[in-house]
Amino acid sequence: MSKKEKTAGTKKATKPGKSKKPTEVVIVSSEAWPWVKTGGLADVAGALPRAMAQAGSKVRLFIPLYKSIDRKKFKIPAKGVKFSVPVSARIMEGSAYMIRPSKGLEVWFIEQEHYFGRDGVYLDHAGHDYPDNLERFAFFCRAVLETLLASGRPPDVIHCNDWQTGLIPAYLKTIYVGVPFFDKTGSLITIHNMGYQGRFHPSQWHLLGISWDHFHPGGLESYGHINLLKAGLIFADIITTVSPTYAKEIMEPDGGFGLDGLLRHRADRVHGVLNGIDMDEWNPATDKLIQSRFNHKEMKGKAECKAALCEELNLAPGDGPLLAVVSRLADGKGMELLAGCLKSILAKGGRFVLLGSGDKELERRFLKIASSSGARASVTIGYDERFSHRIQAGADILLVPSRYEPCGLTQMYALAYGTAPLVRATGGLNDTVRQFDLTTEEGNGFKYEEYSEAALLSKSLEAMEFYLAKREKWNKMVRMGMQEDNSWIHSAKMYHKLYRLAADLSD
Ligand code: ADP
Repeated sequence: MSKKEKTAGTKKATKPGKSKKPTEVVIVSSEAWPWVKTGGLADVAGALPRAMAQAGSKVRLFIPLYKSIDRKKFKIPAKGVKFSVPVSARIMEGSAYMIRPSKGLEVWFIEQEHYFGRDGVYLDHAGHDYPDNLERFAFFCRAVLETLLASGRPPDVIHCNDWQTGLIPAYLKTIYVGVPFFDKTGSLITIHNMGYQGRFHPSQWHLLGISWDHFHPGGLESYGHINLLKAGLIFADIITTVSPTYAKEIMEPDGGFGLDGLLRHRADRVHGVLNGIDMDEWNPATDKLIQSRFNHKEMKGKAECKAALCEELNLAPGDGPLLAVVSRLADGKGMELLAGCLKSILAKGGRFVLLGSGDKELERRFLKIASSSGARASVTIGYDERFSHRIQAGADILLVPSRYEPCGLTQMYALAYGTAPLVRATGGLNDTVRQFDLTTEEGNGFKYEEYSEAALLSKSLEAMEFYLAKREKWNKMVRMGMQEDNSWIHSAKMYHKLYRLAADLSD
């Protein structure tokens, strides 16, 4: 084991240093908006690089060139940089193509037909993980490092995101440890969701290119499996997660999904940095995807958006609030609780719109409720970015009843669009939503603690009653929410400090 490998995981002071400012930032993600998106990671990986570049860093973002990415639309050039990567006994060739979408930002697409030239990002048509996901993303991680080497421009920091990129910090401190090019490169990994760790059978170890010596509980092994997120958490100089509350929750057994002990051990390296939202994409005053534009001073457009949405969905007329969900129908989102109490919400005068996809049983349950709701509920199964904007603009209440939510973006979009978020007090939902207090008139939405159907229903009924009985106060609440600054500016500054710290720690 080298000197660097030994320092990984040991404790050191982590106050930001005063030395060089990282100007060469590399951000690596398995998805980024607008090129490819399956969830919130794409929003973050699309917006943060731009925010960092606007603040003066030179930023290179790396993502795989999936089949779904439209090369023509995004003006991805035909000529790229060729590289090769050993994968077990084979040498896999690939190419990297670069575009410059905005000042200070380069986006690099890693092409490899065998790994990325298929329809899905992580899942096949049946919704199952591709069996070779370890190999695909191990290749991607090495491809990024090889492309960087070929560029001749060493990064000050490589910012990795989630398990798909967790091998990069491990590679920097194992197989690339003697490479002078990376000598001063720090690494940072952001956990967007502890529920997804990239766990694989040990028989796939040979595909990683890392010595088997690292397969033990203090290394990449976790409960008998290879764990790619753990690779990142063990070897990265800095660990971040996407909200301060989630940073605490992942150090507890309930939130740590088996890695809480490791995170407690590395607690001095763990920071919670709240995600921001991209105000160029999510701004009701300029949004071209919605019926009418509006802002906190002039809300007429919001009423027009609601009317247009209800008409589009053929919803029954009514004075009650329009409650909405835009979400993956996945474990942790609390959707089974909502399915359990939705009929009671509708019976009390609420109308409902859902856009989401995922768990087939949940999809069936919601469709069934909608079909017998007398046009009080509309359920659309699928993924539709444009529709999600119309829902955020037209709804009155956005429901986010998650069991856990690392940050959550939809509640921040809701705030920006004058839609009151109704959330369970967990992770980033807890950090961004404050229960409105009728007396002090403080707060921006509705928040409850207990993960139960009864608590969700009770808070929903409270919100509906408030909407119907105290419209002036309601309007005041949502107007205040619209004026909150959830942009990337503050978080980009925090990342800048942490990048500097990661670069210092790598020296
Ligand atoms: P997560 O990353 O766990 O899915 P977030 O709230 O952080 O949750 O981010 C979800 C992102 O995906 C948001 O931008 C949301 O609008 C979007 N989204 C989720 N489901 C859909 C869908 N069915 N159609 C369009 N957008 C969706």
